[in-house]
Amino acid sequence: MTFEELGLRREVLKSLKELGFEAPTPIQEQAIPYLLQENCDFVGLAQTGTGKTAAFGLPLINNIDTHSKLPQGLIICPTRELCLQISKDLQTYAKFIDCSITAVYGGTDIRKQITDIKRGTSIIVATPGRLVDLINRKVIVLGQVKYVILDEADEMLNMGFKEDIDAILDTTPVDKNVWLFSATMPNEVARIARTYMTDPLEISIGHKNQSNENIDHIYYMVKERDRYEAVKRLIDFNPSIYGLIFCRTKNETAAVAAKLAKEGYNAEPLHGDLTQAMRDTVMGRFRSKELQILVATDVAARGLDIDNITHVINYNLPDDIENYTHRSGRTARAGKKGESLVLVNGKELFKIKAIERQMRSTFTVGNIPNAEEICEIQLMRLIEKTINTEVKEHDIKKFMPQIVSEFESLTKEEVIKKFVSAEFNRFIDYYHRAGDLNAKAGRDDNNENRGDRDRGDRDRGNRSREEGKTRFFVSIGKRDGLNPGALLRVICDATALKSDKIGKIDIMTSFSFFEADEEYTERILRNVNGQNYEGHNVSIEVSAAKPANSGGSFKGGKKFDSPRGSGRFGGDAKKVGAPRGNEDFNRKRNRR
Ligand code: AMP
Repeated sequence: MTFEELGLRREVLKSLKELGFEAPTPIQEQAIPYLLQENCDFVGLAQTGTGKTAAFGLPLINNIDTHSKLPQGLIICPTRELCLQISKDLQTYAKFIDCSITAVYGGTDIRKQITDIKRGTSIIVATPGRLVDLINRKVIVLGQVKYVILDEADEMLNMGFKEDIDAILDTTPVDKNVWLFSATMPNEVARIARTYMTDPLEISIGHKNQSNENIDHIYYMVKERDRYEAVKRLIDFNPSIYGLIFCRTKNETAAVAAKLAKEGYNAEPLHGDLTQAMRDTVMGRFRSKELQILVATDVAARGLDIDNITHVINYNLPDDIENYTHRSGRTARAGKKGESLVLVNGKELFKIKAIERQMRSTFTVGNIPNAEEICEIQLMRLIEKTINTEVKEHDIKKFMPQIVSEFESLTKEEVIKKFVSAEFNRFIDYYHRAGDLNAKAGRDDNNENRGDRDRGDRDRGNRSREEGKTRFFVSIGKRDGLNPGALLRVICDATALKSDKIGKIDIMTSFSFFEADEEYTERILRNVNGQNYEGHNVSIEVSAAKPANSGGSFKGGKKFDSPRGSGRFGGDAKKVGAPRGNEDFNRKRNRR
């Protein structure tokens, strides 16, 4: 279906074209034609990231009477950030229509907002507290409002805005249209629908309370004392991570962020003790991807709607399991994929089951990556970065004769080894005595089985390599258009092996890995090498690292406190002197 077919006016279609929106998302497809009608109430059960802002914003803008300067549309949402985001989105949709949009929210000088409202506005986007204040001051009069939109209704009620919402709705005309959007449908939201709506159309993207299907939910069993170390490994294993780590309390948030920052990770905290100015700075840095990891409490992260978040890490599960849906919904937005990783100890497993029931989807059991897996990933990452490093010929030219003469006595292989080691030794030193962080106790058979069953199609890289398997390095990756299915086809076509003989597949940006039963090693090497994939020559070799539990090949050296050390290795997460503009995580991510 196209936006034209939904019945939107020409000016709105023009702005969508400029925005590059090609086709409506499912919620837009269902909601827009209905909301374009004159009189209708509506309930949309949808997560952030589904395109719900445009689902209500486009018909609202489309239906605005541009001659009137009294507020006709009112959008109420839980947080200042969301308020600003919605008004920004609406302004882009209304680019070719004479329709003014005003955002009013707390924590900032009210006088400018009063001036803006008095100047005349068609649409108000507001947080409940500030809106009530402005209604009480008689600055905002809602007598002409035709459309009231409650966005993230469940969040607003969670945050204690029940009375404010009732008070606001009581000042609006009886015959208004109410459109309610919510990720979940607790009783209080249902009550609002019953009280203020007449026969609403209810549309659910996925089941009620269900989480976005593009999110992979993975839990890791760890001992309580290993939580922090486990988080570090998950970050190290995903060098391109652009992630949110959720903690339960302010203190925990501050402590985890401080520890990570001290160890050279590009992480900062976001919690209620920060001033609004500090919050704005941190959020701005995260939004612009200057900051790679944000450690946050549930409350502080509300309204943080950022696309491209690759991972949500639950350092601890929230006390209220409904919050898990909100946390994980921060990733996999706008049709993208994402991972929600959860650290649990044996006593918390029951919460996983409760969340699974509520979301009607399942978790996979993950293994905290071991030292070799992380070192391998980081090593390949280093090589990839080195290959992609731009050489500033002009600046380096005058040093070249001296450099060349210094290296004269070394072979090419020796030079490579030394350069790689200069960067990589720290990681090896840190991880050489790193033990297994996976807690076995309490992990039940069902969960183990579930993990295995999923293995074939989910290709999770962060499980330990299986015994009896050979791991192969492949010279092409995502950048060459490769995906797990395509690689599987190349291997099976070349070797005439059935796909069940091939194990874990990890597609990285410019290279890949796969595993296969050891007995087929020769056959695979012989037949896959030299194959062609969409014009790219495929070359493979047996990967250097030993199987997961072979005792490890990284020995010697002293143990460092942090794999980041000086912050020089693993440039993606480094903090010191990072030339952010060309950071890899700005542009791409390697899903594992
Ligand atoms: P939302 O769920 O409203 O927060 O939207 C999530 C993201 O999807 C935002 O960045 C939107 O700009 C984007 N988006 C919404 N609708 C579309 C569409 N039809 N095509 C492409 N992107 C969209």
